[in-house]
Amino acid sequence: MEFVKAKTILARVKDGSDWYGVDYNMNLYRGCCHGCIYCDSRSNCYRIENFDVPRGKENELEILEAELKKRKDKGVVGIGSMSDTYNPFERQYEITRGALKLLLKYGFGVAIDTKSDLILRDLDLLKEINRRNNVIIKFTVTTPHDELSRIIEPHVSTSSERLAAIRTLTDNGIFAGIMMNPVLPFITDRKEDIRELVRLAHESGARFIHTYMGVTLRENQRDYYYEKLDELFPGLKEKYMGQYGNRYFCSPPGSKALYELFVRECDKYGIQHEMPDIIRAYKKNIEEYSQLSLF
Ligand code: SF4
Repeated sequence: MEFVKAKTILARVKDGSDWYGVDYNMNLYRGCCHGCIYCDSRSNCYRIENFDVPRGKENELEILEAELKKRKDKGVVGIGSMSDTYNPFERQYEITRGALKLLLKYGFGVAIDTKSDLILRDLDLLKEINRRNNVIIKFTVTTPHDELSRIIEPHVSTSSERLAAIRTLTDNGIFAGIMMNPVLPFITDRKEDIRELVRLAHESGARFIHTYMGVTLRENQRDYYYEKLDELFPGLKEKYMGQYGNRYFCSPPGSKALYELFVRECDKYGIQHEMPDIIRAYKKNIEEYSQLSLF
């Protein structure tokens, strides 16, 4: 794996508490090889050249340690918003594992976005961090069907493997759930699939599901997505072009009714789906733990 130069690793998040209660952000890899056809991180605005080849950053754990040492606010550090931190190179290089050890050492919480069950390798560290601070694991799951997940997210764990990973995490007291994002019009927006995904989430012990019920498309990312539609779902690109033109946010037809269905299903199983409730639930969790530990 190649390594690129980096001056900083940790970034303070402005108004971060609105989005999963995250106070800091870091991406330990640049680029991602999981190949999701809808990936927003490949957009030109992020300026990640050669996006499909993940690269590490030179001396990143040393830089991160110096940054963590200086921070007085031991908030929650988000990992993986721009590139999945559990890519295949992580098995060998253990950069994410090294970063988790540092978060534990300096008393920070963690919020991880991933689609890979490689995260279970680090269960020991997540449990330790969870004893002292807030932990939330967000698995993106877009479809209940493994065959479809293999088509639209080809190089990462299937939906059922992700759901099994959620089961293991929640069985170990880790607050884990699902980001049902994006919802791809005409591909993953069938009522019965949304219903089934919420049911599977319940079965796997997911503590939350969040969705914005649509997909964002812009500039070169849209071009890439449309190329993939031509290859994998012939005729669908034309349908998108007719329906959405150059629109940035594309919601499936009947999205209001779909969202209402989603909410009803979540409520039926008692799964959190509103962002403020999700944040309250996972942070409160830890307060309860620390109170328990006083006794
Ligand atoms: S795992 Fe995330 S960052 Fe990687 S290709 Fe898929 S959507 Fe993009």
